Order: sequence, then C-alpha cells, then structure tokens
Amino acid sequence: MERRDFLNLVVTGISTSDSTLGQTVPVGAPADVFIERSVSGKPNQGKVFALVTPHLDDGPIFAGGTIVKMLNEGFTGYLIRTSNDEKDSYRRTLGETVLANEQDAELLAKTVGLKQVFDLSYRNHRMDDVARSEIRGRLIFLFRLLHVDTVLSYDPWGHYEENPDHYITAQAVEAACWMAGGSLDFPEHFAAGLRPHSVSEKYYFARGPQLVNRVVDISATLPGKLAAIRSCRTMVDHMVKDLNDTLAAKNLRIPALTGDPSSAGDEFIRAVFQARDHFTGGKYALEYAEEFHYIGPDHSLDEYISRNAVRV
Ligand SMILES: [Zn+2]
Repeated sequence: MERRDFLNLVVTGISTSDSTLGQTVPVGAPADVFIERSVSGKPNQGKVFALVTPHLDDGPIFAGGTIVKMLNEGFTGYLIRTSNDEKDSYRRTLGETVLANEQDAELLAKTVGLKQVFDLSYRNHRMDDVARSEIRGRLIFLFRLLHVDTVLSYDPWGHYEENPDHYITAQAVEAACWMAGGSLDFPEHFAAGLRPHSVSEKYYFARGPQLVNRVVDISATLPGKLAAIRSCRTMVDHMVKDLNDTLAAKNLRIPALTGDPSSAGDEFIRAVFQARDHFTGGKYALEYAEEFHYIGPDHSLDEYISRNAVRV
C-alpha cells in the first residue's frame, strides 16, 4: 500500500457533513481532502498563475485539467519551462529535440491560452549541475515581474522522485515563492521598477506518493486537458514509439498505436492519462480528477487583525 493511500485510509470519513466554502466531501472520500469544483463566471479575473516545470509535458499530464479550469475562471497563465527538454524525442538529435519541444511549448500555450512561455533552458537531466540559488534568483525575478499569485509545480516533498530536473525545480520554486516577497533579496530588482511580491498559493503535484489535501474536479475540463497533452507532439510520439518498440521486442503489436501518428497519440493519451484521471476521480466520487498538495494564503493573523486594527 502506498503511504498516501494509508494516510487517506486513516482519515477516511463516511458522512457528507464536511463542507468548506460550499464544497462537499463525497461519501468515501478522505475527510481532510478539499474537493475543488468548477465555478461559473470569472471569479479569478486579475489573478496570475505560473506553471513552473522542467519539462513541457509535466504540467499537461499532472495538472492540465486544473490549468484549463483556472484559465476558464479568469486567471492569466504563464509557463516557465526550466529545462531545454533536449532528451525527450524519438530518434532525433539533441539539437532537433530542443527545437521540436520549443515549438511544441508555443503550441501548448496557444492551445490552452497561456499568455507567454519563458524557457530557462537548463540542460535536460542535468539540472543538479546548476546552482539552485541561480534558478531561484531567476524565478524570483519572474514572480515579481509577472505578479504571480499562484504556482503549479512538482511537490518538493514528494517521495521517490527519480528525475533530478523535477526535484531541483520544485525546491527552487518553493524557496522563490516566499523570497520574492523579501525587500532585501535581490534589491537591484527594485531599481528596475519591480516590487517585492510573494506567491501565496501553491498546487503541488507528484509522480510518486505525496500528502494529498486537495482534489480538483476536472470532469468539465478533461477535453481541454487532452488537447494540452496532445500539443506535446514530440513527447507523445516518443512515448508511443518507445512502447511500440517494447512490444515489438516481445513480438506484440497494438494496431491502434501503430497507424497514423496523430490517432496513435490520441489512443495512447486516452489509454494512459484519461484512464488514470478516471481512476483518481473514482476515489473521490468524481468522474475525472487531479490530486495536489495545496498550500494557500496564510490567514493565521486575520482574527487578530480584525480585533485590533484601527483605521489610520
Ligand atoms: Zn518531467
């Protein structure tokens, strides 16, 4: 049993009495997990999120439905891609791979409606060579420049992550979120017109076990998520062809994965990612869902301030 599942089992509630801000916990769902559902209108107009990941497909695969939901609800979104994705293609050279994934990043932004892509372009699979303080400093600059309120990234505390690009990026993001609010961190930014600006909301996803405390219902935005994954053309093609090679070595073939590359990609996305999100949703009585460790704004002083603050 995974640690996450064990923790969930420990806290599983059987009633529907839990309710936070009108969002109910379905029967059988873990009682301390907040279910975030789609809302109508543009309640988040004026807010800004940054998806900060090393690889192009990380965000679409783990948070694509949430990203589309946020954009629908008024957020302005940016992609900050920390690596150059030079290792993720099928039988292309390093240089061809960098270019193909760079072009796919622009296609992703256009497909889902992200405002801009920032490529930090550190070498793929080698991000543990890079000083974390440098990555952090670049993120602090961007968080201040773009007035980022919310980040989506890998969970810096997720377990059994094998890819250094994932955990190095996650650690840099977490530190940059609060340091961006410091008036003595990179003060030269202020001479250029920027202001201290901390990031107050984080959605962390993970490939392995993590402490899940928020589940986003993506039933309504699943088609947008599938389109987002599909826009990572080079990477999806890589996944499909690697699987075909593995099957061929065993004298096997899946016809739906060996025909037209576009329909093979669609079939793979449905079989792997749509099926996974349906399984995740089933744990919370939802059709499709994405899981996160969520850290929200700090409200610990709100009551003290409301009791003691006076107008000046
Ligand atoms: Zn990745």
